[in-house]
Amino acid sequence: MPYDKKLNQTQIAQTNKYNVFRCLVREGPINRAAIAKRVDLSIPTVMVIVDDLFEKGMIKSAGKSETGVGKQPEILAIDPRRCFYVGVDIGRSTIRMVANNAIGAEIASMKEPTGDPFPEKQFIGYVQKRTLQFIRKLMKKNGDVLGAGFAMPALIEPGTGRVITAPDFGWRDIPLKDWLQKGIPCPVLVKNSTQALAVNETHSTRDGDHTTLCVNLGYGIGAAIISGGTLYDGTGGISGELGHCVVDRDGPLCKCGNSGCLEAVASGEAIARQARMIILHHARSKITELCGGDTSLIDAKMVFDAARAGDGISVKIVNSAARYIGMALSFAVNILDPDRVILCGGLAQNGNEFLEKIKSAMEDHLVSRENRNLNLSAGVFDEYSTAKGAAQVLFDTLWVNRELPI
Ligand SMILES: [Zn+2]
Repeated sequence: MPYDKKLNQTQIAQTNKYNVFRCLVREGPINRAAIAKRVDLSIPTVMVIVDDLFEKGMIKSAGKSETGVGKQPEILAIDPRRCFYVGVDIGRSTIRMVANNAIGAEIASMKEPTGDPFPEKQFIGYVQKRTLQFIRKLMKKNGDVLGAGFAMPALIEPGTGRVITAPDFGWRDIPLKDWLQKGIPCPVLVKNSTQALAVNETHSTRDGDHTTLCVNLGYGIGAAIISGGTLYDGTGGISGELGHCVVDRDGPLCKCGNSGCLEAVASGEAIARQARMIILHHARSKITELCGGDTSLIDAKMVFDAARAGDGISVKIVNSAARYIGMALSFAVNILDPDRVILCGGLAQNGNEFLEKIKSAMEDHLVSRENRNLNLSAGVFDEYSTAKGAAQVLFDTLWVNRELPI
């Protein structure tokens, strides 16, 4: 990390310490001379920083180097049992949690069904209680907790962590961060689920060279933008609302109050609803067989399964969803000019054919498509991706704000 010319001596010392710590996280176990070379500091400066990190219990000796001749240098490593941090995915029906140690390795995960999200304070109190239990259990063997990052499908006001609106939960204007923070003995951060998901998807490649549009195609539809290694929040935290771009003015009413939003015609919920409506009108479809005649059980997965089996009604619904998603992606790509589009969420796990249909529909509407270097792919499917992203956003924020205990 290069120095900012306006930094004072204390800030320079802190930056040096963070650079040494990062070198140990990324490249450890490593000896003092190698650290000095990597971070471009003198060996005496590195020795002072290392002594301080030893004193704080953040690092430990990992033995002596076995190469070369003469006195063998001591190898240093981060002590993974010194501290940990937590990510929590607050879903409509399930909460999922993960914990990472100081070097970012996962040390625990758990999930649990939640009840109705009302009253809001009671629901948040429950999430807080379960998080606290998860943290306390881990503290017995894994040191101090650095912080807890929470993610939920909502518009979140940056800074305050207030839920502006969460249509899937039926919430408006909820001081989520304040209510969570009251019972949790570490810094709390609240983020939108799709943003957390995007951070997790791009974590290993956030080298600053990419502009990534990450789209979450699930029960609802959202998007997040990561450019130059940084998550784009927007002015008021209301970025990435791709699901509420109108793609069919005569389309069905959306939860947001508009008609024909992408989410109202192509989300998992919309796909299931369309199938339900058609079957209720006595159309013959393989979906009737898959749901055992109970239309209330129809979900998007059933429609995709039936489409793969050649069911005409399902093929039509899936093709229509792909066309609308592709069209909406073209809006975002025409504006942002990303080099990567990553499609995440349950709908994106429906095979290459669906992805190709989306890609084709997107390209139909792209301007200068031959001049773009654009890669569209499916994200990594993992039910803990959002929780992992929430943990990573928390750690990144502590890092940027210089709030790590080093
Ligand atoms: Zn909408």
